[in-house]
Amino acid sequence: MTTTRFAPSPTGYIHVGNLRTALMNYLIARKAGGIFILRIDDTDPERSKEEYVDAIKQDLEWLGLNWDRVERQSERLDRYAEAADKLREIGRFYEAFETPTELDLKRKKQLNMGKPPVYDRAALNLPDAEKEALRAERGNGVWRFKLNHERIEWTDGILGDISIDAASVSDPVLIRGDGQVLYTIASVVDDTEMGVTDVVRGSDHVTNTATQIQIIDALGGQCPNFAHHSLLTGPQGEALSKRLGTLALRDLREQGVQPMALLSLMARLGSSDPVELRADMAELVDGFDLSRFGAAPTKFDVQDLFPLTAKHLQSLTLSEVSDAVADAGVPPELAEPFWAMARKNITTLADLKGWWELCQDGAEPLIDDEDRDFVSEAMALLPEGPFDGETWGDWTKAVKEVTGRKGKGLFMPLRKALTGMERGPEMATLLPLLQVIRARN
Ligand code: GLU
Repeated sequence: MTTTRFAPSPTGYIHVGNLRTALMNYLIARKAGGIFILRIDDTDPERSKEEYVDAIKQDLEWLGLNWDRVERQSERLDRYAEAADKLREIGRFYEAFETPTELDLKRKKQLNMGKPPVYDRAALNLPDAEKEALRAERGNGVWRFKLNHERIEWTDGILGDISIDAASVSDPVLIRGDGQVLYTIASVVDDTEMGVTDVVRGSDHVTNTATQIQIIDALGGQCPNFAHHSLLTGPQGEALSKRLGTLALRDLREQGVQPMALLSLMARLGSSDPVELRADMAELVDGFDLSRFGAAPTKFDVQDLFPLTAKHLQSLTLSEVSDAVADAGVPPELAEPFWAMARKNITTLADLKGWWELCQDGAEPLIDDEDRDFVSEAMALLPEGPFDGETWGDWTKAVKEVTGRKGKGLFMPLRKALTGMERGPEMATLLPLLQVIRARN
């Protein structure tokens, strides 16, 4: 059964970069009728916070990315300890005692000599007595996985054939000196035991994948299909990593971005498929194809979310936005005509308020000097209420007959006088909502 997982660390809010990972894994599972697991990677007790676990769930729920079950790494520590024991037994695990400063020095020396900064395995052959002495002096060491120095190869779902020389990679630390299990082994144990068949994650994990393939092999597990998506950059190709903090999903929600807009963009950005607004999740699932994604860095511009949001809002019926319409202050009896007027003239739902204010309070009229007489003449011709969808047409027809003006010369001064703006909703739908004018009649 196709099984995927989204595995955030609850050390912060999730952002557009995380969403891309989540969405790809979600869509693969749903397209195959499989299972999508939300896995909380919380082996770091200091940095993991319950508030972030809740926030991650809220953000995914907001987007409709429903998971089939939740797994928490902090509840599976005994499984990781077992795996560690097994690696010890088969001679693929060794304790190392270098301090961070010592490691740093080694790296610098290697770099100075033009060599890649790969851990030199100095601890591999330490005699037991020396280990004892180091342990007494420095406390427990870290545990490193001993890589087999051979090429590690896989066919990546996005990057194609990958081949990495294990000798160019440091033996990864899987357990810290304080006993904390690190992601590299926890993830392998989970993926294997939970039957994860497909792992999509960012290309910053490619080297991890190489080492994890060897760990999976050593533990006798089955390797999932791996795919690594490109990382997002800003609109000019600039690194986004520092700005991702400001692109948290909850900030976008705050700014009025609609879920379907965000999903439509993130599910296709960086693929050869066009980014278009999709009607619903089913449509996204249907058209999703991992092999259409490219390896090149993917440009992301937060501004692209707003036209998609506007387009999505246009497609909604009153019942889907009735709360927002009421929140803007619109009385229930005017909700329907108000939404019909406003829907094509908003970027986010927050804009409804401004349109209702215009309806309610009117606007500072914008009248050019040469139109002054014309506007007064026209105002005198405004028919008696109640206003309806015909009023604008009847009125402007009458104004045309009396003044001889037509086209833009007729409509624009009236629009500007009534709304204070040169552009906006269709006047026929707006006029019946203008409370000031209604009241005058
Ligand atoms: N917790 C890891 C991360 O957020 C998960 C990576 C993975 O998908 O394996 O980077």
